[in-house]
Amino acid sequence: MTHPKEPASEPADANERRSAPVVVCYDVASVPTRAHSDIETWRRDLVVVDTVIAAPRDAACFEVPAGYGFRIHSVDGPQVGDLNLWNQHDLSESFFSGKTRQLHATHVTRGDRLWSSLPALRAMATITWDTLEWYGWDEDGGGVHDVIGTRCDPYTNHLLKDVDYHQCCHSNLTRALSDHLSKPLAEVEPFVHDVLNVFMCTGFTKDTHQYFMKASPVRPGDYIEFMAEIDLLGALSSCPGGDCGSSHSDDDTACYPLKIDIVKPSDEYLEGFVKASVNGYDSTHGR
Ligand SMILES: [Zn+2]
Repeated sequence: MTHPKEPASEPADANERRSAPVVVCYDVASVPTRAHSDIETWRRDLVVVDTVIAAPRDAACFEVPAGYGFRIHSVDGPQVGDLNLWNQHDLSESFFSGKTRQLHATHVTRGDRLWSSLPALRAMATITWDTLEWYGWDEDGGGVHDVIGTRCDPYTNHLLKDVDYHQCCHSNLTRALSDHLSKPLAEVEPFVHDVLNVFMCTGFTKDTHQYFMKASPVRPGDYIEFMAEIDLLGALSSCPGGDCGSSHSDDDTACYPLKIDIVKPSDEYLEGFVKASVNGYDSTHGR
């Protein structure tokens, strides 16, 4: 059968069908949150206990005990970062960008949480501060810190350009995880997952709904801060796209390091801290 050149014709009631009311998919008012007063108390006495640098076109791993936190800082120039998070004790539980998108929005900011994969489905981290919160939504429909894109990777690059480039975020994250766990690349690569695109400014084009990027509004001094809700292993890649204002997956763009500070709240706060527990569903799936 030949593929017809013309699309399927519209039914007579096409516009009526298109005008069905919009319904937000989840009862987002029921998403468990952290009270602002709790976050303020946690933030009050934070001290930096460790610092890790993700070098340009490379990635670094870091560990954050539950109740501690981490800040990702722009330092020398506008730079986008690709963040992976795992349960430090079980790499099969990792950041679930799709569900985070459904529970919050295409882009996340202060108060939103990063949720983990099924079956655990729990808050891994809560965003406690974001110096780019002011950005909101621009006239192109773009926002900052997206959970709609994946990470740049050498396979897509090979597919589209027939070039082998080894500093894509996927490769950077794979090397960093391999080094951190002292395990071969092939063993850890399947654990690298869809990211939080830190500082990246993205959206969908209004006419064709295609994923776009534009120069990040991040500047040195900006940071985003997270509270760890469970013991976390994180990895952050300084994307070869730099500010992602022109290209990625190549060496054409200026790239800068990203600084990760691990922060600790007061001992008093930590004593009362309760880790997020795994989801309450019994996983029997009707059997
Ligand atoms: Zn990247």
